[in-house]
Amino acid sequence: MFCQSCGRAIAETASVCPNCSAPVKGMAMSNVAPSNAAQHVSGAWYLLPFFFGIIGGIIAWAVNKDKDPKRARNLLIFGLLWTFVPIIIIGIVLFYTLTVPPPIRYQGAFPQLYYDFLDRTASFALNRFTSLV
Ligand SMILES: [Zn+2]
Repeated sequence: MFCQSCGRAIAETASVCPNCSAPVKGMAMSNVAPSNAAQHVSGAWYLLPFFFGIIGGIIAWAVNKDKDPKRARNLLIFGLLWTFVPIIIIGIVLFYTLTVPPPIRYQGAFPQLYYDFLDRTASFALNRFTSLV
């Protein structure tokens, strides 16, 4: 038969489960293993590390580590990766931005138009001002 509490197979004569030491209830459904529904940890738990990174991962792990250790560990790993991969990508972008010389970075058409616009606006304002005084 199976333990009503933890689901392990135990001897027919046992009065206490050797695995979890729960008392064995007589003949009631002795041949039916308890369902694992109580042990199931929903995949929706991934939303916690998804939104809160490593902090969500630690919370999801702490809550589920007894119910489903494997899924709890995966939640923690997901939280870790989800936190550090973007940090590494941002680091690479920052490193690139700070190390590539400015003349190469500002060769695009947009910055040139922007600087031309600033030049024209400044000289227009200056002309207006000098014509007033
Ligand atoms: Zn048990």
